[in-house]
Amino acid sequence: MTDKKINQKNEIKKEPKKEMAQSVRGMRDIFNEDYYYYQGFFEKAQEVAMYYGFKPIETPIMEQEALWTSGIGEGTDIIDKEMYTLKTKGGDKLAIRPEYTASIMRAYFEKGMQSLPQPVMLYSYGPVYRHDNPQNGRYREFRQFNLEILGTEKSIADALIIKTAVSILKEAGAQEIIVDINSIGDKESRPVYIKELVNYYKKHIADLSPIDRERLKTNPLRILDSKDPRTIKINENAPDSIASLSSAGKKHFKQVLEYLDQMNIAYRINKNLVRGLSYYSHTVFEILETSGGTDVTPLAIGGGGRYDYLAKTLGAKKDVPAMGMAIGVDRVVEATWFKKLEPRIMKKPKIYFIQLGFEAKLKSLNVVEQLRMAHIPIMQSISKDTLGIQLAIAEKSGAPYALIFGHKEAIDNTVIVRDMQNRKQETIKLDHLAEYLKKLK
Ligand code: AMP
Repeated sequence: MTDKKINQKNEIKKEPKKEMAQSVRGMRDIFNEDYYYYQGFFEKAQEVAMYYGFKPIETPIMEQEALWTSGIGEGTDIIDKEMYTLKTKGGDKLAIRPEYTASIMRAYFEKGMQSLPQPVMLYSYGPVYRHDNPQNGRYREFRQFNLEILGTEKSIADALIIKTAVSILKEAGAQEIIVDINSIGDKESRPVYIKELVNYYKKHIADLSPIDRERLKTNPLRILDSKDPRTIKINENAPDSIASLSSAGKKHFKQVLEYLDQMNIAYRINKNLVRGLSYYSHTVFEILETSGGTDVTPLAIGGGGRYDYLAKTLGAKKDVPAMGMAIGVDRVVEATWFKKLEPRIMKKPKIYFIQLGFEAKLKSLNVVEQLRMAHIPIMQSISKDTLGIQLAIAEKSGAPYALIFGHKEAIDNTVIVRDMQNRKQETIKLDHLAEYLKKLK
């Protein structure tokens, strides 16, 4: 191929050199062992969720943009700068899922789940997209395992969500889990608290960073989890939300903590924890794994909260009290403590299948099929022809046995079974092969 073309006037025209296509920043290919780890984690998470009574749901990866703009609310990072949006040819404004909760609430109404016995407990798994700044443990495409309980205001739902997530993370290898928890109040107490907070920040406005000054107008609660060092200092003495909780709010929070005590889940009350999304009310929490020591702040591996007022912001006639959380699966799979879970279908093949010449290749897929029916997985290199090369690959693969299937064997309907360690070989009739291989240790 040449990058020069001759046009009609016989002039040589240079074609621009094409760059090889690359994946999008903040998005990755997941393959080899990693693929199985993700799948293994999902299988385990699904199993635990099922034991606690959750049912699966898969919602579309795209929704109307308004679902999230009204659900999550402006003044949040997701809505202000992180959502991937697009306009269809028909003019619809859609967005690619930046989180699950709003979709689940939509599905709850659209599928008439209000008429089911309440609460409705659902889990989901899939990719989530946020145009965030990629860095360690922070991607633009990442996966969440999501849990939601819709249709109850009871504190046991908050506890059950946290317990299920903690159990999943422990099964995945987490050693030391701590739950950072706070209550940001209900309809009655939240405006009172926000007013108090705004008054406090106004007194310190000169020291607030420009972004936090902006948040004072759009979403003052967000100033509490500001990363700006000056604001962090100001936050030390900021009024705390728990002090202004209504008596119902206080009771709810106290009960949640009692459940956590009862279940021996370690927690600490973090008065600056508000979480990014504005639909939260009452309980908000984040889950951290601290076995790596306390000198580095560990990344949150999960987080969530109660969202009793989301339904109405999405246009429902009445609110549906609900509680949910999401586990950041990429952060789990990348953690040093991750147990390297593998899916149950994964079977490490013990057999390397060597095929020599066309005659053998012609029949080889029937042999593989015969073994598949007998649940015996194999490895093979279908494009290689010589015995030497295939034996070398078999050796490297670590498979304890190789099958050698050449011209003669194909005619005789036999195959040679080679013990890779002591190099002993035995010729076996194809009809008896599966049976014979099953007996090998
Ligand atoms: P959130 O949906 O913001 O409540 O996040 C729930 C969990 O998802 C977090 O605790 C993280 O573990 C994970 N997470 C959030 N954002 C990202 C990201 N950009 N990259 C990887 N994981 C993330």
